[in-house]
Parts: sequence; structure tokens; C-alpha cells
Amino acid sequence: MNCKIGVISGDGIGPEIVREARKVLDRTAEKFGHVFQYTELLLGGASIDVHGVPLTEETIEKAKACHAVLMGSIGGDAKTSPWYRLEPSKRPEAGLLGIRKALNLFANLRPAYLYDELREACPLREDISAAGFDLLIMRELTGGLYFGARKTENIDGVRTATDTLTYNENEIRRIAKRAFEIAEKRRKKVCSVDKANVLDSSRLWRTVVEETAKDYPDVELSHMYVDNCAMQLVMNPAQFDVILTENMFGDILSDEASMVTGSIGMLSSASLNDSSFGLYEPSHGSAPDIAGQDKANPIATILSAAMMLRYTFDLDKEADAVENAVRQVLKEGYRTGDIWSEGCIKTGTAQMGDLIADRI
Ligand code: NAD
Repeated sequence: MNCKIGVISGDGIGPEIVREARKVLDRTAEKFGHVFQYTELLLGGASIDVHGVPLTEETIEKAKACHAVLMGSIGGDAKTSPWYRLEPSKRPEAGLLGIRKALNLFANLRPAYLYDELREACPLREDISAAGFDLLIMRELTGGLYFGARKTENIDGVRTATDTLTYNENEIRRIAKRAFEIAEKRRKKVCSVDKANVLDSSRLWRTVVEETAKDYPDVELSHMYVDNCAMQLVMNPAQFDVILTENMFGDILSDEASMVTGSIGMLSSASLNDSSFGLYEPSHGSAPDIAGQDKANPIATILSAAMMLRYTFDLDKEADAVENAVRQVLKEGYRTGDIWSEGCIKTGTAQMGDLIADRI
């Protein structure tokens, strides 16, 4: 297969972790007989340094010409970096929001997986973590409360603020379809999370998800109120496969789900549109405190590359090979500093990439 991959190395530890992900991708291409062609794209602080703005039309056009984009992370230290003396719309993070919008990336996927070897880092009670978990949160990213009309006004001398939460059936249907498609590649379960006992938007959400489910008879659909889901994630995370939810609920639940794994350097993510295109990136930031020191954990980025193989290129065998290589390296006791514990072998960023690539 011939795959065109845009690469945003970004800022801070970005270039180091992306280099390792490319190492692993190149080994995968060699092993399975594919060609991965990379196009370098500038975004965030790296783009400000060259063009004065965090996102250019050139980056958008080049990204659109690729099948997928793999990204490190963007941003710097807000206290010391000159990027943060610019007005908010010119700062690195504005570039990320801009590219998500330009590429119409409405579906955000964040897996939360507990590796046996990292169980000690899990903050849950031992009897709960012993069951393990492997879930994926599918969050609507471009609608709902964060994008609705808002205003702050003074009504009869009382300061009053209003936000509006709107979803139409098309927005709900397109993300529901995505969730069912992805569940078909996993354990075939979707739990749709809403607040249908209170909100009209949630009642429509539930209705449209149920309508959509009829096209996916092999996937089991359940519904859960968001407050219950927040509890279930810490009481019994093993029950979940794909959790489908709207923007604000997903924002909160996906952070909760990732924190129960206890390892920020391990968490991958993807943002998809309604074609096979996706932007794949680790969930963590650019960690300026450890940039350039060969200390960063590249695994979240490597697992994001595995998601790209699975969801954009439909290369399940290859994605499995990358995920198994990560598991194998952990099993052999290798750890970067962030996940290191007594008795393990400490490695740097580059060595971790080599170890994983060697096991493909
Ligand atoms: P962060 O995730 O960069 O760092 C939080 C802590 O986790 C730090 O101690 C860091 O050293 C550590 N850490 C993060 N990733 C690691 C890795 N792969 N290996 C080892 N340790 C790791 O969050 P922050 O400090 O709040 O943000 C730093 C910058 O990143 C800011 O400019 C922020 O805006 C940006 N950011 C970017 C993204 C993105 O690109 N999508 C996401 C979040 C934050």
C-alpha cells in the first residue's frame, strides 16, 4: 500500500517522539511491504518561528493532500516562551484548533488501556484494576455547548451569562456511525452517554443513536446517564468497549478515563472526519520541561501511529504488530523515566523507539 502521511513534529518533545514513531512506521512498512511517504508540515510554535502565525494555508492544503497526519505536540512554556506574548489567536494552540476546524475533524477518539505491566500506576483499587480495562471514548468535537451562541448581560442589575447547547440530527448521526464502525473492529459494544432525563439535546441524541444502530445489528447498544458513567469509569471500567458521547461530556469523561490508566506518556488519540482521513497525536502536551533531553516517552505517539494504521489505512495486522511490540517491550521490563519503577530497565526516548521497532 502507498500511504501519504503528513507529519507535524511540533514543539517541545514533539520532534523527538515523532522521530521514534516514524522509526516504528518505517520498520512496519519494510516488514509488511508498504510505502510510507512523509510530508513535513509546520504547526504551532514551529510555524510561528517561520511564518509569524501558528497555521498557514500551505499547511492546510498540504495536510488535505495526505491520507492522514501524524502529530507530536505543540506549544511551549507559557511563562517563558515568546509565543505567549502574542495575542491568543496567534499562539500555538490556536493553530491546533484551526487545523481541526479546517479538516472538519468532528470525531475524537481516546483509548484508555491498562497494561498489566503498568498496573501499579493505576490509581484504582486493586480488585478493580485487576480486571483490567480496554475502552475507547468517542467524543463529538465540533458541536454542542462549546460551539453554541453565548452571551453575558446585565438583566435588571443582575449579571447573567447564557451558553447554548445545540445538536442537529445530522451531527449526531455522523458521529454515531463512526462509533458503530469502530466498535465493529473491537468488541462490538457501544455505550451512548447522555443526560436524556433532563436535556432535549440528549433526548434527540438518544433517538438518533437508536435509529443509527439499526444499520449495525452485530453491535450491542446501551445507554447511560453521564453522571452514572463518571462513577462507572472508576468502579467498573472493564464493562466498557466504545463510549459514544457529545462534546462537553466527552471532554470530562475522556480526561477521567485517561487518568485512571495512570500513565500520561502512554495515551494515544485520533481525530477523524467523515472520510478515512485522521489526525493522530498523543494525548499529552509538548512537555517543555524535558524537551531535548532524551527523556520523553514516545509510546503515546507510537500507539497513535498504530491507530492511524488501523483507522485510516485499514491495516489491522500492522497495527496489531505495533501494539504487540509495545506490549513486548514493557513485558521485558524497559521503561522511560515517567513509567519507571524499581526493578525495571531505564531507557531514553531513542532507545525505546529502537526496542519497539526491533520487535515488529
Ligand atoms: P504536558 O502534557 O506537556 O506535561 C505535563 C507533565 O507530563 C510534565 O511534567 C511533562 O514532563 C510530562 N509528560 C508529558 N508528556 C510526556 C511524555 N511523553 N513522556 C514523559 N513525560 C511526559 O502538559 P502541560 O505542561 O500542561 O503543557 C505543556 C505545553 O503543551 C503547553 O504549551 C500546552 O498548551 C501544550 N499542550 C499541547 C497539546 C497538544 O499538542 N495537543 C495538548 C496539551 C497541552
